[in-house]
Amino acid sequence: MTDILEANDRIAAVNRQVFDRHRNLVLNLMSSPGAGKTILLEKTAEALKGKLRLGVIVGDIETARDKERLEKYGLPVVQLNTGSACHLDANMIASALPHVDLTNIDVLVIENVGNLVCPAEFKVGEDFKIMILSVTEGDEKPLKYPLMFRESSLLLINKVDLLRYTNFSLEEAKANARKVHPDIEIMDMSCITGEGISEWTAWLSRCYQKKFGAKSRA
Ligand code: MG
Ligand code: ZN
Repeated sequence: MTDILEANDRIAAVNRQVFDRHRNLVLNLMSSPGAGKTILLEKTAEALKGKLRLGVIVGDIETARDKERLEKYGLPVVQLNTGSACHLDANMIASALPHVDLTNIDVLVIENVGNLVCPAEFKVGEDFKIMILSVTEGDEKPLKYPLMFRESSLLLINKVDLLRYTNFSLEEAKANARKVHPDIEIMDMSCITGEGISEWTAWLSRCYQKKFGAKSRA
């Protein structure tokens, strides 16, 4: 397993060089299935219009449904179907790169396969791993799946509009996330009401500026 991960990391480092050369801020977006990765990208596409140019590589075991959803926003989207694999790895991303117009992208989001476990083990060439936890999943998840929370720079707690229908405690979830990763940044979010979207896009702009020293090239 160590060998597999080392080989993966070498390919990820090459991907990263390609992204840096094209001035792409690259995020590896992870969550369990149904937490809201694709809707977050739909809302992000709307919010970033005229500011930063978004592109997406989306991984799913089967179907091109997410690609079809995202293309309605005029984004460059490449769909990867992993067949049986429950995560993306650096090699899959390398194989997608010839199909992505990196010169016309500022922020590239790699939407990983919905899974709280192994996506966190495989670098793909990203600047940051980020994750979504939705309030319908339970506030104990950071303790049960610590690696993903430990690896993520930013945690978006999505579906806060549903809080009153659940026994999810925001305070508990945040305390648990900080137990496994004291420095993790956390934002409350609802992709339905739009709560948190402007904080999130401001985070993206800050990261882009930090990496490239400019707001955008657009
Ligand atoms: Mg999706
Ligand atoms: Zn996997």
